[in-house]
Amino acid sequence: MSIFHLGLIGYPLGHSLSPKIHTAALKSCGLDGNYSLYPIPPEDMQGLETLLACLRNGEITGLNVTIPHKQNVIPLLDELTLAAKAIGAVNTIFVQNGKLTGDNTDAPGFISDLKRFLSDRQSSIENQKSALVLGAGGSACAVVYALINDGWEVRVAARHPKQAQTLIDQFSNLNSRLSFVEYQTTSLYSLIFDLSLVVNTTPLGMSPNVEASPWPADLAFPRNAVVYDLIYNPRETTLVRDARAAGLSATTGLGMLIEQAALSFEIWTGCKLPRNNLYKTVVE
Ligand code: NAP
Repeated sequence: MSIFHLGLIGYPLGHSLSPKIHTAALKSCGLDGNYSLYPIPPEDMQGLETLLACLRNGEITGLNVTIPHKQNVIPLLDELTLAAKAIGAVNTIFVQNGKLTGDNTDAPGFISDLKRFLSDRQSSIENQKSALVLGAGGSACAVVYALINDGWEVRVAARHPKQAQTLIDQFSNLNSRLSFVEYQTTSLYSLIFDLSLVVNTTPLGMSPNVEASPWPADLAFPRNAVVYDLIYNPRETTLVRDARAAGLSATTGLGMLIEQAALSFEIWTGCKLPRNNLYKTVVE
């Protein structure tokens, strides 16, 4: 039986939950293998090349990629999936027909966890899909790509309009209803009656700065929206706590983290994973 040598490239990697998730996944599928951390500093392209050579020669079966290398690995790969190409970032690498192939499971991981969350709440949101995405960095690209492919109208709020415009231009060929809104109370106020979803992709509220919130303190939450915060540490962010206190349904991003990991694992091993078991392992 083959041994699955899996791992994660990024920097720093000290607090990564991925080894825990993938070790549980291997066990759940009855597979022999391991999941290693490969901390490679941002400027170390030689380190990246050496590691990818191990994937090419079969010493490593599959790799995840996180900050700061999601874009850096692209020139070193032979092929990209449609999603990775459109998003411009890779979080999963595998070998297909001898070719190093880059994929992005953040986008399907996000949309699938969002749908689970919405269906759990028997939400009527599917009828008026209008989303506000806070932030325009790496994860925002995956989130926006996933939302527009799922038929949502999307507004992107970013403190640097140029960054948001770059993101919007990136998806201009998808015929999407995608636009920019200034990240300030007066501009956001004009939207709040239409919104059915708010997604935070900024790091505001992430440990250790857990008191911070990306939602302006002087702005009410949209009454008919649900809130999805990509942050998963802490388990309840200030944004999620405040939104729940205002009567909204809200969740942090642990479900997305698990879903994107499970999708990568399925690509490498072909083994379909029961998500609930994984979720329990990580939460415990
Ligand atoms: P990123 O590429 O650095 O993007 C962060 C975005 O937030 C940028 O647009 C940045 O704008 C903006 N931002 C940062 N500080 C801000 C502030 N004080 N006010 C307004 N905007 C601010 O980071 P990322 O990779 O997208 O990750 C963002 C968060 O998502 C992290 O907390 C990460 O852990 C989480 N995440 C979760 C999952 C999951 O599976 N649940 C997956 C990916 C990411 P500037 O460029 O102007 O700073």
